[in-house]
Amino acid sequence: MAEKIIAAHSPQATDVAQDAIFVDLLRCTGCWTCSLSCMTGNKLKDGQHFVDVRTLGSGEGIDRPAGTWPDLHMSWMPVYSKACVKCESRTSEGELPYCVKNCPNKALAYGPEAVAEKMAAARARGARIFALPAWERSKDGIIYASADREIL
Ligand code: SF4
Ligand code: SF4
Repeated sequence: MAEKIIAAHSPQATDVAQDAIFVDLLRCTGCWTCSLSCMTGNKLKDGQHFVDVRTLGSGEGIDRPAGTWPDLHMSWMPVYSKACVKCESRTSEGELPYCVKNCPNKALAYGPEAVAEKMAAARARGARIFALPAWERSKDGIIYASADREIL
């Protein structure tokens, strides 16, 4: 059974924190570069990671699509753990967090202006804006846009 994205609420521009991170699920290809660049940049120990890139597919493991051939579908969702420090040492110097800077698909954005701009663009294309519920125990201030896109 496909995993479901469950929204706690739909953040507005006024909810965007100073250290907010925006994740556009339409652009995410599940490459794990965000997580790996965090591991390298923050010198994490082997096996330690602050971002877990979930596969939203059949629920039977990584990169297993939902559906029946030829109607298969799969997407990905980077989930930030509480251990994420939002790269404070970098952002205080005006640099982007490692994950945001290195995402090859521009799926991530950081900071109130960039996040508010991306939220508005995502809403305009028909995406839902949401944050994960508290029971996920993920990092606060991570705002997602669904992969939905209205067909114009
Ligand atoms: S957010 Fe970017 S870097 Fe992370 S898995 Fe998605 S596409 Fe890759
Ligand atoms: S914001 Fe910094 S600490 Fe948090 S996941 Fe991204 S790279 Fe790692």
